[in-house]
Amino acid sequence: MRAKRVRKLIVAIDGPAGAGKSTVAKRLAKELGYTYMDTGAMYRAFACRVMEEGANLEDEKGLRKLLRDTNIALVEQDGRLSILLDGVDATDRIRAPEVSQWASRVSTSKIVRQRMVELQRDMGSRGGVVAEGRDIGTVVFPHAEVKIYLDASSQERARRRFDELKDEGNQVTMEATLEEMEERDRRDKEREIAPLRKAEDAVVIDSTHMGVDGVVARIMQEVNKKISANH
Ligand code: C5P
Repeated sequence: MRAKRVRKLIVAIDGPAGAGKSTVAKRLAKELGYTYMDTGAMYRAFACRVMEEGANLEDEKGLRKLLRDTNIALVEQDGRLSILLDGVDATDRIRAPEVSQWASRVSTSKIVRQRMVELQRDMGSRGGVVAEGRDIGTVVFPHAEVKIYLDASSQERARRRFDELKDEGNQVTMEATLEEMEERDRRDKEREIAPLRKAEDAVVIDSTHMGVDGVVARIMQEVNKKISANH
């Protein structure tokens, strides 16, 4: 008898900034041999183009043209995920705090979201992805087999973001980091289209007092449950 081909899963991880989504998603993708999809990087890359062009977010026609003319690609090179913006590596550039704020402004636009969701669904069409963002379990992949809502206290999330930014050589203070993060979370949760919220069937993990290993192990339990159910 031929072995049953088991479709690779989609693991959706949503949550606010600094909850640990990227670190955890990267680790899971590696363990599972899946593709890691950083959807925030895509909004960040497009935000860079908007900033460069000084584009007006209210100008739908102009924004549509900019979306059409912009090429955004996530590529894995030497085990590291890079983001190419019009063919140029923008992986480091998109992490600047200024870009974070612009990404959350840009991502309130309906047409921007439509385009990004289209690209993301295309990348995930064959399963085998660990995708992280704000609307993965609710909008991008509502039928994802595993849905996680990863959260942590805002103090802890700001502390993690602050350490990350400092390590990358940014001049930042803890107060400014907390303030910016809360502003971004508010915008992400209150926007009209695809706001950040927990999908009804998502498993909530509060990582405030958990290490990366613990969170990864907890999600792997959910993944293994689904894999066994599929056999
Ligand atoms: O995850 P990251 O912090 O890189 O995302 C940057 C911004 O992109 C978020 O604050 C949010 O506004 C937007 N985003 C989104 N939907 C996603 C991923 C990110 O709106 N799926």
